[in-house]
Amino acid sequence: MLSESDQHSDAAGSLKMQCVYCSKVYSGGVGRIRSHLLGNNGMKKCKDAPNDVIRCITLRTLSYREHLTKTAGKLKNETTC
Ligand SMILES: [Zn+2]
Repeated sequence: MLSESDQHSDAAGSLKMQCVYCSKVYSGGVGRIRSHLLGNNGMKKCKDAPNDVIRCITLRTLSYREHLTKTAGKLKNETTC
């Protein structure tokens, strides 16, 4: 997704990214664009993003959360031994 997004910084140094589907610009980086595409975290869902893209992002988000959960569980087990 990064290669498809226009990524640049303004004079203040805060990261801004542009949605490649609807051309809206958001500050805050990849997380903001992901929230925009999925329509979560109180952000308006992108009306122009293809369903395939949204499904792909959803799967990646879920697998990442699953990874974090497994990592946290492993660390928890190691610390309680
Ligand atoms: Zn958009």
